[in-house]
Amino acid sequence: MGSPLSPVIANIFMEHFETTALQTLSQRPSLWLRYVDDTFVIWPHSKPDLDHFLAHINQHHPSIKFTMETEQNNSIPFLDVLVTKSPSGKPAHQVYRKPTHTDRYLHYRSFHHPSVLQSVPNALIRRAHQLSDADHLDQEIQHVTTALTSINEYPRHKIQSKTPANKPVANSTPEENQPAATPPKQTIVLPYIGQASHKIQRILQAADIQVRHSSSNKLHSILYSHKHKHPNHKKAGVYKIPCECGKVYIGETGRNLETRLKEHRTSFRLSDWDKSAIVKHAQQHEHTIEWDNSHLISIMKHWHTRRIREAIEIHRHNTVPQDSGLYINDIWKPLINKYPVTPPPPPPPAPPPAQSIFVFYTKNILKILRHIAERLI
Ligand SMILES: [Zn+2]
Repeated sequence: MGSPLSPVIANIFMEHFETTALQTLSQRPSLWLRYVDDTFVIWPHSKPDLDHFLAHINQHHPSIKFTMETEQNNSIPFLDVLVTKSPSGKPAHQVYRKPTHTDRYLHYRSFHHPSVLQSVPNALIRRAHQLSDADHLDQEIQHVTTALTSINEYPRHKIQSKTPANKPVANSTPEENQPAATPPKQTIVLPYIGQASHKIQRILQAADIQVRHSSSNKLHSILYSHKHKHPNHKKAGVYKIPCECGKVYIGETGRNLETRLKEHRTSFRLSDWDKSAIVKHAQQHEHTIEWDNSHLISIMKHWHTRRIREAIEIHRHNTVPQDSGLYINDIWKPLINKYPVTPPPPPPPAPPPAQSIFVFYTKNILKILRHIAERLI
């Protein structure tokens, strides 16, 4: 489901599937609603007939298999709605939360633009109006209010319980709802840096420039920065693991180097010599493997070219005792010997400092800077 086209194709396929599967049945559900791969069904016939129905749709295509959940205590969750059979026969509905839900949202003291923080109660209240029936609305608003004020420390006045359910987009301004008579504003994206951001926003708005804020310096970007060190470790190809004595191990992998290196390290930890020639060499001679200097000599996707390159590199390098790979006819060896061993790649450039000041996504950067300068001086 990674491609943007996948849900569309999945829906086309599933529509065809359900049309043909349901048409070939003598007893059909009185309601069949589907969202992507979740289906909500009302079955008016007997339980054995229901089992037969499930067996029937599971025989229809080898790749499409359904599992079934039936109501418990007259209720069943579907997506994020809990549907309950009321005594009157009319289904009641309310917001559904999994039993493991912790009611933690973006904390009010998180460093974000106020509009981002305000969007949390707005979205939860809007959802309460959209998913709860009249009998459950007050209870849901009460739940959201308690969760936001007690766990997430939102001030009570930030939670507007009266958000009308019929408003099409709760955050849209009257200006956005107007027909496109005026040309769209220019938009600029700036990192949110607190009070200065509000001042700059006011100045730019006066110049008819719309400001959007991005958050910067997240813990995620700091903690994950080590990933910049080896950008190629996520690729397949022919790789080299050096030993302190100057000898190397040459290997090839069709997955990615990171995964393959983990396997070598596991063999090292378990002294599993048969699985790694470099581990065998290092442990026999009490040498140190230079794990951090391991790298891909060449990024290669195709198995056969990888095997050829591996054999060539084994021939060119002073390797630890290892399998010599694919057979290379001696006729090629004078040619291979002409080329010296590839030097290790230069260290990648340092990532830009995390505290970059401004990122402008606009063509009229000079105009904007001049405008800010005129207003600030
Ligand atoms: Zn060694």
